[in-house]
Amino acid sequence: MSPHQKQEISSLFIIIASSALAGAIFDKIFLFVALALFAYIYFMLRNAFKLQNWLTEQKKDLPDAWGYWGEIFNELHLLEKQKYKQQKLLSVALSRFKKAAEALPDGVVILSQHNEIEWINPVARSLLGITYPQDAGQKINNLIRHPSFQRYLRKSNFSKTITLPAPENADNILTMQIIPFGYKQKMIFCRDITHIQKLEEMRTIFVSNVSHEMRSPLTVLSGYLEMFSDKPPKDEKSFKLGIDNMYQQAMRMQRLVTDLLALSKMETAPIEHTKQVNVSTLLITLKENAGVLGQDKQHNITLHADETLNLRGNVDELHSLFANLINNAVRYTPAKGNISISWKKSNNKAVFSVSDDGPGIATQHISHLTERFYRADIDRSRESGGTGLGLAIAKYAVERHDGSLAISSELGKGSTFSCYFPSQRFLT
Ligand code: ADP
Repeated sequence: MSPHQKQEISSLFIIIASSALAGAIFDKIFLFVALALFAYIYFMLRNAFKLQNWLTEQKKDLPDAWGYWGEIFNELHLLEKQKYKQQKLLSVALSRFKKAAEALPDGVVILSQHNEIEWINPVARSLLGITYPQDAGQKINNLIRHPSFQRYLRKSNFSKTITLPAPENADNILTMQIIPFGYKQKMIFCRDITHIQKLEEMRTIFVSNVSHEMRSPLTVLSGYLEMFSDKPPKDEKSFKLGIDNMYQQAMRMQRLVTDLLALSKMETAPIEHTKQVNVSTLLITLKENAGVLGQDKQHNITLHADETLNLRGNVDELHSLFANLINNAVRYTPAKGNISISWKKSNNKAVFSVSDDGPGIATQHISHLTERFYRADIDRSRESGGTGLGLAIAKYAVERHDGSLAISSELGKGSTFSCYFPSQRFLT
């Protein structure tokens, strides 16, 4: 028993005792005691009614009372204050959670125990095509009708994620995971993985292309080696032909590996911004190399380079960029053809371009030329020792220098490959 309760019981005894004493004086003990008890019960009932009114009417202020009831009201007041404080803390925590979930890059949907939407963050709204608050209270299985989602929702074990096309746009792929929480409530996490899926597809295609490119020279090499070990050729001419062919195939594999390494280096190495590259000197060397590469074709190669115009960037990547474009012109332009190389400033951009009057490229190929292993003319590419990676490397290198690559070509007339570098990349 609490001290207040003990005090209240002793007060009751005092009331009864003093009313009995007063009653004894007037010889009306029973009446006095009954009146005192009646007054006591009236006081108790009045306060009990006050309490009930306060509880049912949810009045803000607690009623006043003295004595034992005053204590009860005081305790209730304290309890109420505590409840208000907890509610405030809860609402702050809830609004913090909502703010955090709104800022998440993933979609979040909170479901009730009956799978009705309680809350949904903006990412999930756009990924799942759900409007909020209009769709609040709707069952999620009425809005996402994909069979794999319907099956997943019926399960009791959500440890695995599911992958499905986005309800709004079937070209986009989503992953989803349900996380149960609270009392039979669920939280759905969803994420757009279209780009990861595409990367994975590209990686598979790339690996199969590389294997394909490697397989043909390896087949030739192993064929010759098998033939030489079974039955070595007697005459020197056949022997030399075999060795020459093997050498060509080994060179082809070496070029492929070199190009693949160049690509992977560019994909992983950080971009340099600071080093100054003397482009005109670089182009003089490349023009000389081009003359050697196409010496049997006797091209007419011209170079016009602004000696004062330099680039900021990576000399190896720029070398690889310009060399690939110039060497392509040499490789594809027939004998006695014209190739012109230029390096100048135009419209506040530094422009490198190489033009030839070679076979040109059909329009339908142009937009694909920078894809890895894409060739407009496979035979001509292989014949001239091409790997199918030159323009992919060139595009990568130019973009790493904030520039862009433009290709214009006409069948039978020739091609022009131009690289445009923005002003922050060049120095004059
Ligand atoms: P490849 O090693 O096959 O030359 P590239 O990526 O350098 O690979 O070029 C892709 C394709 O673009 C080539 O296979 C070729 O068909 C075409 N091409 C590139 N440069 C020229 C050019 N100067 N003239 C005609 N076709 C070209």
